[in-house]
Amino acid sequence: MAGCNVVMLGPPGAGKGTQAERFARKHGVPRISTGDMLRDGINKQLPLALVAKQRMDRGELIDDTTMVGIVRERLNDADTQQGFVLDGFPRTVVQGRALDQIQAERGDSVLIVVDIVVPHEELVRRLTVRRICSKCGTNADPADRAATTCRLCGGALIHRTDDNDRVVLDRLRVYAESTRPLVDYYCGRPTFRTVNGAQSADLVAQELEAKIADAARAGALSLGAQR
Ligand code: ADP
Repeated sequence: MAGCNVVMLGPPGAGKGTQAERFARKHGVPRISTGDMLRDGINKQLPLALVAKQRMDRGELIDDTTMVGIVRERLNDADTQQGFVLDGFPRTVVQGRALDQIQAERGDSVLIVVDIVVPHEELVRRLTVRRICSKCGTNADPADRAATTCRLCGGALIHRTDDNDRVVLDRLRVYAESTRPLVDYYCGRPTFRTVNGAQSADLVAQELEAKIADAARAGALSLGAQR
């Protein structure tokens, strides 16, 4: 799939990170997770990231200017030329507009947007049991409750500081208020698709593959029609 630029939308706990990672690896494009970039900055004690940490721990969003700056810089890297998978960005309509602008500057107009849909109760359940690797950020296998180390790199598994009950509800509320409007922003485009996230990770991955391929064809057609 040439020039595969994908945005994964969906609430916290929808499985965006897992699916973005799988899709990116399979297609040889980078996964750009703004949450991982921020957590990486915190691990390295970078001053800006440490300021962001206070907001993240409360489940609040980091300001648009900072986030757009971070992503703009990342999309300048050569490894994004054949495409990318964005996970966690855009999260507001302002960020969505900025991404369209960045795409236009890159001369790259097809953006495939997939919204992973999962019922609220299932999201709360998933988030409160979720553990991630303290070294590489990979989600632990939720079925393997006894595991204490990461199956990929051996790092210790930990609960994220923003995955406690109260903050989880705050993050879901912030999602509904700030990020869901992005669905309205994108849903009229021929390259927008929804995917059922309330099924096994393998089935979600299959549905994603099929819908992204279909959206890529629709995108190429609409691009052809514009020329
Ligand atoms: P999740 O997918 O579980 O919501 P992420 O790992 O994507 O979590 O993000 C964790 C936190 O990082 C968010 O709650 C927010 O504070 C901050 N963050 C990440 N991406 C953005 C963004 N694009 N805009 C604003 N804040 C962000």
